[in-house]
Amino acid sequence: MSLKLVSAILVLVSFALPSDRSIPPLETSPQDDPYAQQRHRMVEWQIAGRGITDPEVLRAMRSVPRHLFVPQGEADHAYEDRPLPIGYGQTISQPYIVAFMTEILKLRKHQKILEIGTGSGYQAAVLAEIVDSVFTIEIVEPLALAAADRLRSLHYSGVVVRAGDGYNGWAEHAPFDGIIVTAAAEHIPQPLIDQLKEGGRMIIPTGESWEVQELLLVEKRDGMVRTESVLPVRFVPLIRQK
Ligand code: SAH
Repeated sequence: MSLKLVSAILVLVSFALPSDRSIPPLETSPQDDPYAQQRHRMVEWQIAGRGITDPEVLRAMRSVPRHLFVPQGEADHAYEDRPLPIGYGQTISQPYIVAFMTEILKLRKHQKILEIGTGSGYQAAVLAEIVDSVFTIEIVEPLALAAADRLRSLHYSGVVVRAGDGYNGWAEHAPFDGIIVTAAAEHIPQPLIDQLKEGGRMIIPTGESWEVQELLLVEKRDGMVRTESVLPVRFVPLIRQK
């Protein structure tokens, strides 16, 4: 390779990656949190570096200790740019997808959000960094119990976890300002549309299991429901309780 080509590539790479100078100072010392530096870099490179700009979302992603939401043996991989297994055939979503889905809900502090698919509880914790109230439903009971314990020990008191089928939503606490579904459904469950507040937003992956699916943004305005496809994705399937 010619020297000219190599230097052109280096220039491109240095433009594509955010420079260290753009990284704000750490809020946690390395003694308190051995993963603080990795988390910081994850946010700069994978999240801000890919166009997420909402300061609250960036702050939330910088705050939640993702390594405490993955199985112990996976902690060293927690800040990598991919989903990770959490047991029972389920996964914790890729950090960028968590940030993207959070940002698109346009959250505000006083809001009440419903999540379907608690999994590890990581997405719920990210939401709870921003809004007052998060209700989340997980169909695999041991995952629901573990997530509830984890969120309690990390003092996420604004999150309520329930074991059960999220297809029917959570009528007692409806309507919700926002709904986030983190498993792929074949269609948008009608109970979730019904439980979305006027002016509310829902983000939900739809499509066949294990195929490329589309992330749909659903908005309810003047009683009308508008859907828009915003990103191709791949999620584990939404399971139905028999
Ligand atoms: N949000 C999670 C990742 C979700 S993976 C996190 O941050 O870790 C999708 C989760 O949806 C899995 O845990 C799966 O068990 C759950 N799930 C699948 N179908 C469901 C249903 N009908 N109701 C509630 N949870 C469901």
